[in-house]
Amino acid sequence: MITLKEALAMSKDELNKFKDELQTKIEANKDLNAYIDVNTFGEGVPVAIKDNIQVKGWSVTSASKILQGYIAPYNATVIEKLLAAGLSPFGRTNMDEFAMGSTTETSCYGKTLNPVNPEHVPGGSSGGSAAAVGAGLAIAALGSDTGGSIRQPAAYCGIVGMKPTYGRVSRYGLGAYASSLDQIGPMTQNVEDAAILYDIISGSDAKDSTNAMRDDKVSDNLNPERKLTIAVLPKYIENASDDMKEAYNKAIAALKAQGHTIVEKEMMDAKYDISAYYVTATAEATTNLGRYDGIRYGNRVEGANLEETYYKTRSEGFGDEVKRRILLGNFVLSSGYYEAYYVKAQKTRHLIKEEYAKIFKDVDLILSPVAPNVAPKFGELANPMEMYLSDIYTISVNLAGLPALSLPIIKNKDGMPVGLQLIANAYDEQTLFDGSLSLE
Ligand code: GLN
Repeated sequence: MITLKEALAMSKDELNKFKDELQTKIEANKDLNAYIDVNTFGEGVPVAIKDNIQVKGWSVTSASKILQGYIAPYNATVIEKLLAAGLSPFGRTNMDEFAMGSTTETSCYGKTLNPVNPEHVPGGSSGGSAAAVGAGLAIAALGSDTGGSIRQPAAYCGIVGMKPTYGRVSRYGLGAYASSLDQIGPMTQNVEDAAILYDIISGSDAKDSTNAMRDDKVSDNLNPERKLTIAVLPKYIENASDDMKEAYNKAIAALKAQGHTIVEKEMMDAKYDISAYYVTATAEATTNLGRYDGIRYGNRVEGANLEETYYKTRSEGFGDEVKRRILLGNFVLSSGYYEAYYVKAQKTRHLIKEEYAKIFKDVDLILSPVAPNVAPKFGELANPMEMYLSDIYTISVNLAGLPALSLPIIKNKDGMPVGLQLIANAYDEQTLFDGSLSLE
């Protein structure tokens, strides 16, 4: 597959020919179920779009039954930015319903297969975007990351996935899951393409009140020669699989060989991250999903009165995982439990942020696993709790609002990709990309 950099240098005729071939290839690989459909918009370099990003005139559904029939009336800011830079949305990709999940199995369009081995999940929630890029069915894609949904599927499918600092990329037009954690980011074939796409979609936007209003760019200044100090967290790797340990050791050796300094650091037990994240994310999700009542958007199931219409629409429209999150979110926000769960989660979130800040006083980057293991096989995760626990390495980054990039390091004996992530201090995407080049 051509890279994004190459595609941006193509003539209009070459690009049109390429798009026709791409369409044929996508058709031939329909079994993968990476794409929900292959709508096109505009004439530019094609970029696949996760089904929770508004593209004017497209059906945009967050892979939920409740949004069937909804047509996006406007473009998300990231889409406007793509169009302005000569790129265009090309196909919407499958995902977990409302981005809740780690396997892309909760989509109302059925599961997506891992292109490396179809017996394995592609990861989630941006599993369709990762599978499309991994299978050579997209030059690049956009995903969204609330607790790992760009980085983890990227790691499972052997591609590059990057979550920007919270506030770098406008959330205007992104279907909200947990507003204080959500970020849109690039999913690409290599680090340089990720930097190029990050530059295109990031920047100030008055339409998102949480936007950082910063417009500094990285891709023209990429410097693989910089010597950096990189922290590793030995306690973190203790419970990871042997594959992960092998990747970890290989990455450390590669970084040292290129003149970087490795230092060992400690962070508090990551089990607290899981609790803080699932309380915060479900509380915010409950609030955000309140708008899907059958009156304003998408699908309506009529009842005898308004109350029953709400009830029927939501009962039939939401899948099991989404309902589980709504229940959990309502529980942790309800009076009597609010102090015990929600407030405690916010305090823990603060501590996590402080821990990162302390480490970043001494180092430029942190190297860590993305997931405890390679992509599981379908059916391997026995229950939702096991799925939540597989997010252990990604969610603290969202809780602290930091940028991170996941990239493939090795393949295990079965040929499954093993990915690691680098984490940088807030707004230090330049160092994140520079350091990532050393691991390619
Ligand atoms: N797996 C996590 C969850 O289900 C993260 C999802 C995401 O980043 N959107 O909440």
